[in-house]
Amino acid sequence: MLTKKLRRLQSFLSVVSRPASHRAKQQYDVVVVGGGHAGTEAAAAAARVGAETLLVTQKIHTVGALSCNPSLGGVGKGHLVKEVDALDGLCGRAADRAGIHFSILNRRKGPAVWGPRAQLDRQRYRDFIQSELLSTPRLTVVEGSVEELLVAEPNPQKPGQHRVTGIRLENGDQQISASAVILTTGTFLSGSLFVGQTSSPGGRIGDAPSSAGLSHTLRERLGLRTGRLRTGTPPRIVKESVDFCLAKLHPADSHPTPFSFLNTHTHCKPDEQLPCYLTLTTPGVERVVRESLHLNCHIQQDAKGPRYCPSIESRVLRFPGRQHQVWLEPEGVTSDLLYPQGLSMTMPPDTQLRLIREIPPLHRAEIHTPGYGVQYDFVCPTQLSPALQVKSTQGLFLAGQINGTTGYEEAAAQGLWAGVNAARSALSMPAAALSRTESYIGVLIDDLSSRGVTEPYRMFTSRAEFRTSLRPDNADLRLTLKGFEEVGCVSSLRYKEAIRVRDTIQDAIAALQAVSLPTSTWRRRFPACNISENKASVLTAMDLLLYSDMSFDMLASEWPERLSPYAEFSQRLKIEAVYRPHCDKQKKEIERIQREESMVLPDDMDYWSLPVSLSREARETLDRVRPSTLGAATRLEGITPAAIVTLLNYVRFKERNETKAQRHKSNRKGEREEDLFATNASLQH
Ligand code: FAD
Repeated sequence: MLTKKLRRLQSFLSVVSRPASHRAKQQYDVVVVGGGHAGTEAAAAAARVGAETLLVTQKIHTVGALSCNPSLGGVGKGHLVKEVDALDGLCGRAADRAGIHFSILNRRKGPAVWGPRAQLDRQRYRDFIQSELLSTPRLTVVEGSVEELLVAEPNPQKPGQHRVTGIRLENGDQQISASAVILTTGTFLSGSLFVGQTSSPGGRIGDAPSSAGLSHTLRERLGLRTGRLRTGTPPRIVKESVDFCLAKLHPADSHPTPFSFLNTHTHCKPDEQLPCYLTLTTPGVERVVRESLHLNCHIQQDAKGPRYCPSIESRVLRFPGRQHQVWLEPEGVTSDLLYPQGLSMTMPPDTQLRLIREIPPLHRAEIHTPGYGVQYDFVCPTQLSPALQVKSTQGLFLAGQINGTTGYEEAAAQGLWAGVNAARSALSMPAAALSRTESYIGVLIDDLSSRGVTEPYRMFTSRAEFRTSLRPDNADLRLTLKGFEEVGCVSSLRYKEAIRVRDTIQDAIAALQAVSLPTSTWRRRFPACNISENKASVLTAMDLLLYSDMSFDMLASEWPERLSPYAEFSQRLKIEAVYRPHCDKQKKEIERIQREESMVLPDDMDYWSLPVSLSREARETLDRVRPSTLGAATRLEGITPAAIVTLLNYVRFKERNETKAQRHKSNRKGEREEDLFATNASLQH
């Protein structure tokens, strides 16, 4: 074990110490630019699919760095982490290794929308990602800054269609050819950092922005449309200077739930987890924000910031007079710093200190590093195909914040999918697709490529129409088998485990369905379940599991021989039982919608007067966009599956009525013609 670790360390040091130009070969299948959350998943996925892959990043020691809050997951975002893991990505396993506070958010709601989240130790997370990358076959990691994309002359047969042929590195003029290039440069494209009234070029603090040559190639040479967005980060606070007794303790879950389907427990033991704390802003915070607005140029800019992770300035200006939540979260096991989530700010450093001291537990706090803002260019993602390839440039893929998203999880999910497809393109395999009906990754990519973004995009469960079947607990059964059999990004070890899980769960369901008793007997045995009188006369144990007061363990204690072999999956079976009826119904609806995707929606349909149950928002959207087919309607924001089924039923009903009316009319015409024929015939006789 120790020797393996030493070997990894040696190989890591050897990669860091040699200049990039001496290490990289001249030719790769796939080159990934940027070693953030998108780039690391992209590089690992491309190599898993079988492509010779090169990851070029500005600084090797920042590979896998958590630029902002050291945390992963949350509502919607946790689903993405589980799906990345199900496709054999890195971030779920890295979080299980580095997590120091695990909790499932949104527990008051159903398990379909629970949000697994972990606070992480920055250093452990980075170490895990780096050691995984450096031990991935077919993957080379080098330090260097990419100056320019190499682009072949456009094909005269296809004007406007470009092809990327490789990259050129800064300082040294080294060129590397590649069949596919993935850009994952995050906030670095024309990046500017802001604190108070000063601004300087940069991708994040301590890092230079991407070279101007890269932006030039994208905009001028390839003609891509770009926009400008902004984000920010809070000051880091010296832990010792915080009065925790003035904040509310937020303990971790007593049984930490791992992200990865390969892990049964997390590295951090339950009692080793570190606490987080919650506090609130005071009127003094609002006063400092207002008094310092003229000293804060980031907040005065037009570029849109993240609506769902806004700066304290935006929160105060948008909701005056309110108290805002601030989470005080640890940065790591040995770190002396604290991350105040909710206090991202860009005012001058001395004003930042004045502001945080208006918050009771921070009344004597010291700032280690001031907060800052960053503005950057993004590429409008409607120019991408569902494989995340630039439609007008063969071989060029984009993933992560460069596509207008915010967050590690969104970046990782796109990175993995771009890596898969860049490798498949380089190896002359057809593109792989993920739909909205099978994954949150499919929802994310479809939203980006078909709707685009007007502000930094983050994932929410409400974006997924089919969320009762796209649950965090079943991401392995939805994606791992496909990932191995069709996509080629999943190892056989993980595949075998997913097959075992699938088969065991199927056997367990069959065993539960085989226990069948008269309803009156169930009522006597489990009176607390309140089984209603008018239920079917016979119910199975699977039907019973649906009741909130019933657990798998209660059933297994009654039929230990039949059911206890499946105790390992007791929670998954409970969730399966609860969602099965919804999912069966939804599955039929999905199949019907998929069959009817090309159904034409009449041009002259008056959506406002349709005599069906459709929300005002749905009517307004349909009337404004006037989608030509049912498939196009499914992709509109705010159009729910229920609205689609309503539309489908209405159009089919109308068509049936029209056919009937026409048949009736032609029968009448036929009858009249027959009468005429009979009259003529009698006249002829
Ligand atoms: P990054 O993780 O930024 O990685 C980009 C990588 O590309 C870097 O390693 C960089 O060195 C490399 N690179 C850039 N140009 C080149 C080049 N020319 N050649 C070689 N390498 C290059 N997310 C949230 O969810 N919530 C937040 O509150 C939040 N706040 C943030 C605040 C700040 C200041 C920053 C910088 C980011 C913040 N994020 C936040 C975003 C989060 O860090 C990103 O969404 C996520 O890291 C994006 O991942 P990425 O892989 O696209 O880019």
